[in-house]
Amino acid sequence: MTFATLGLIEPLLRALETLGYQTPTPVQAQAIPAVLAGRDLMAAAQTGTGKTAGFALPLLQLLTMEGPKVAANSARALILCPTRELAEQVHASVAEYAQHLPLTTYAVYGGVSINPQMMKLRKGVDILVATPGRLIDLFRQNALKLNQLQTLVLDEADRMLDLGFSEELANIYRMLPKKRQTLLFSATFSDEIRQLAGQMLNDPLSIEVSPRNVAASTVKQWVVPVDKKRKPELFVHLMRKGRWKQVLVFAKTRNGVDALVDKLQGLGINADGIHGDKPQATRQRALDRFKSSDVQILVATDVAARGLDIEDLPLVVNFDLPIVAEDYIHRIGRTGRAGNTGEAISLVCADEVNMLSAIEMLTRQTLTRKMEPDFEPEHRVPDTDASGQVVKKPKKPKKPKASGGGGGKRNLGKWVDSGDVAPAEPSIKPVRKVPVFNTGPRKKK
Ligand code: AMP
Repeated sequence: MTFATLGLIEPLLRALETLGYQTPTPVQAQAIPAVLAGRDLMAAAQTGTGKTAGFALPLLQLLTMEGPKVAANSARALILCPTRELAEQVHASVAEYAQHLPLTTYAVYGGVSINPQMMKLRKGVDILVATPGRLIDLFRQNALKLNQLQTLVLDEADRMLDLGFSEELANIYRMLPKKRQTLLFSATFSDEIRQLAGQMLNDPLSIEVSPRNVAASTVKQWVVPVDKKRKPELFVHLMRKGRWKQVLVFAKTRNGVDALVDKLQGLGINADGIHGDKPQATRQRALDRFKSSDVQILVATDVAARGLDIEDLPLVVNFDLPIVAEDYIHRIGRTGRAGNTGEAISLVCADEVNMLSAIEMLTRQTLTRKMEPDFEPEHRVPDTDASGQVVKKPKKPKKPKASGGGGGKRNLGKWVDSGDVAPAEPSIKPVRKVPVFNTGPRKKK
C-alpha cells in the first residue's frame, strides 16, 4: 500500500516524499480513507504510531478541496492538544505536510502573551492548533469565531481529561457548530473518554491499531529495585556503566526534577529539566537542546513531556513511577517510535509497589526485575505480577539468641545468621487486590 493508493493528492505526496515517509503506518492506512470520506473517528492509537499524519493529511486535503476561504478571526479546522509542547509539535508536523498547499496554520497556547496571537488570528487561519484554556480565552475576547469550523480534532483526549480539562472541553463543545467532522484520538479509553466520544462524535468509525492499553512492543522494559534514597546514585552508576548518550528521564514532581538536575549538573553531567513551573521559552529551549544532542539528559515531569516526538530516542528512564498507570505507556512511548527499538528502565523502591502492580496489570505483563549489584534494596520491593496482586513474603521467624553459633554478619542491610539453616517453607499468602491508580481527573497545573 502507498499513500497514493489511499487517495492523497499530489502536493501532499510530494511533502511525504521529502520527509521520507514511504509506506502508511496502520493507523494512517485506516484513518486516511475514513476521514477523506467525511466520517467521524474514534481512534485508539498510542503515540509513535504516526497518528498525527493519520488525521492531518486527510484534513489538509479536505480543507484544500472543500469549503470557503477562511474569514477574519476564524479557523476552518481546530486541533486541540493537552500541552503547549504537543501543540508546537503537532503544528510543526502539520506545517510540514502542508508545505505545498495554499493553507495557513498556527498554534496558540498559554504561558506566552496573548496579544501576538490575537493579531495573528485577525486574518483567520485554516488550521489552528490550540490548548483548551487559551482557546477559550481567545474566544471570549472575540479574537476567534468558530462558526466556519469544518473539522475538530481532539488529540490525546485521555490526557486532556487527566489534566483536568473536562470543563474546558464542555465549554468548547458549546462553542462549536453542530455540523462538523470530529476526530478523537486517545491512547487509552476510560469510561469518561467514551462519554466524551458519545457526546462529541456522530456515528464514529472505531479504529484500534494496537491492543488497548498495551505498551509499545518494540520497547524492551525492565525494573531495577532500589531503596528510594539511593536512586540518584543508582542512576549515575547505570548511566556510566551503560555509557548512556541521550536519555529522557521522568520524575514525579517538579521538585524531583530540579533536585535530580542539580545533582547531575553538580557531577558535571550535561543535564537539563522541564516542568510546568518553568517559562515556556525555557522549556522549549531545553527541549530543542536535547533534540539536537546539546543536552544529554533531559529530566521531565509527565505534563511537560507529554506527546513529545524525539527521533530515535534510545532510552527512557522512570526515575519515579507515574502515579497514573496510563502515564507509563505514554512515557515509554517516547522510545521505540516509528518501528525503532528502544529501552525503558524503571528505578522502583518499596513505596512504589502498588504503582508497579497497577502498571503490570494495565499492560498485562510482569516486568522483568534486574538487581544491580551493590544496589540491592534494604527495603524489599514485594513481588508483583500482571494479575494485580502484591505478594508480601512473611518475615523470617527470629532465631532464639541462645542457639549459639556466634553473631550475625551484616549483609546488604539485613541480618543473616552465619549458622543459618534453611527457614521453614514460608506460607505465602496472596494478598489484597491493589487499587488502579486512574481515579478521576487530576488537578490542572
Ligand atoms: P506520531 O505518532 O504522530 O507522533 O508519529 C511518530 C513519528 O513517526 C514521527 O516522527 C513521524 O514523523 C513519523 N512517521 C509518521 N508516519 C510515518 C510514515 N508513514 N513513515 C515514516 N515515518 C512516519
